[in-house]
Amino acid sequence: MKVCFDTDLIVRYGGRGPRYTSYPTALQFSEDLNADDYRENAIASNASGVPLSLYVHIPFCHTLCYYCGCNKIITRNQDRVERYIEMLYREIDMQSELFDKSRKIEQLHFGGGTPTYLDREQLDDLMAKLRGAFTFDESDNREFSIEVDPRTVDEDGIRHLAELGFNRLSLGIQDFDPVVQEAVNRAQTTDDVLNLVLAARDSGFESISFDLIYGLPHQTVASFDTTLELVIGMRPDRLAVYNYAHLPRRFKGQRMINDDDIPSPEVKLDILHRTIDSLCGAGYEYIGMDHFALPEDELVLARKNGTLQRNFQGYSTHRDCDLVALGVSAIGSIGNVFAQSAVTTMEYEVLIENGQLPIRKGIAVDDDDLLRAEVIQALMCYDKLSFDEFGKQHGIDFAEYFAAEIERLQPLADDDLIDLNQSGVNITQKGRLLLRSIAMVFDRYIDQAQNDNRFSKAI
Ligand code: SF4
Repeated sequence: MKVCFDTDLIVRYGGRGPRYTSYPTALQFSEDLNADDYRENAIASNASGVPLSLYVHIPFCHTLCYYCGCNKIITRNQDRVERYIEMLYREIDMQSELFDKSRKIEQLHFGGGTPTYLDREQLDDLMAKLRGAFTFDESDNREFSIEVDPRTVDEDGIRHLAELGFNRLSLGIQDFDPVVQEAVNRAQTTDDVLNLVLAARDSGFESISFDLIYGLPHQTVASFDTTLELVIGMRPDRLAVYNYAHLPRRFKGQRMINDDDIPSPEVKLDILHRTIDSLCGAGYEYIGMDHFALPEDELVLARKNGTLQRNFQGYSTHRDCDLVALGVSAIGSIGNVFAQSAVTTMEYEVLIENGQLPIRKGIAVDDDDLLRAEVIQALMCYDKLSFDEFGKQHGIDFAEYFAAEIERLQPLADDDLIDLNQSGVNITQKGRLLLRSIAMVFDRYIDQAQNDNRFSKAI
């Protein structure tokens, strides 16, 4: 289904809200859930026998991109990196003991920070360590992805990643305009990126994804058009186009960005409008929430066959896996438990040094959370929800259980974001850009969190 850009609705509904990479969101995590709870739950999860997904967090970066709001460490101190890797290895040992070896790793994702901060030897050793500790699915079914900062690898580096078993790449592009790049302290040439893309295709990478950001300093509709033309020419399989949230009080690095250089909200909306038109015109499908993909890409196929999910990487496939997260601040999801590790390396390393799992907080979701999570997944992944089918699947009378929510959907139906009737809800072309505003209706924690400015704006 296409997407329809309605400026008036976007202005009215595009306020702050969760991205629903999990439900409940991380704001609901608490220290009530501790490492012992996590361990118990992880061991119990083996009864399900479902495959595993692994997330590995490498927090280091060489230089600071001024827009960045990630949990990262800017350093060139190799001793610090080596110590982190040593602790990560110990965590791998502790975590891998919890899971049956029969549970294969079908999905692997290296995120950061900058995973390609690690040099070849460090990456070789880390992958060998993971392969020794867990049972990797080495078949074509595997989905092993890594976030790549194009400034940290050359073509040989890309081939090396393929040799290690990675078959999906995510390249941080943001913008190709040198003026914008200079303003955010992230210079990378178009030719360098193109060479990496060619090397990745040549090495057999099945999916290449680009990240772009709109709303960066000095961007204009015309300048971003040029970036889009270059991007479309390279034909990545997927694109994530994020809205830059300028929160200099919260993110120190953003204070390096001059407020006056940031495009106005009107220009940002124009850029977004042009982006959607350009990408859809070039054959990309809008998956939802900032994500686009070519029709043959797995995300589009997963949307068709019912295996698409929202998770901490945005949209993803392999919905049936339990997610084991390794590294500082990483968030895992095993059975009905979300658990997050310590968010500072100091605390992470102290816990591991003391022989403890580094889990610091999380939540054990209850039956009501699970129902709401399913509703939110359906809306965000498939743009529709059949009340009858959902009710039958989950043993509830949907109209009765969610009577208050259905009532709250009515104004959205009046504004043509959704089609609402007794049998269910379908998100309209206009509503597709405002998925999270629709999903928020089913979030039982939203009232207490709505004014929390930790949420980014929907658009
Ligand atoms: S955007 Fe990526 S490379 Fe830049 S500072 Fe943030 S995590 Fe590091």
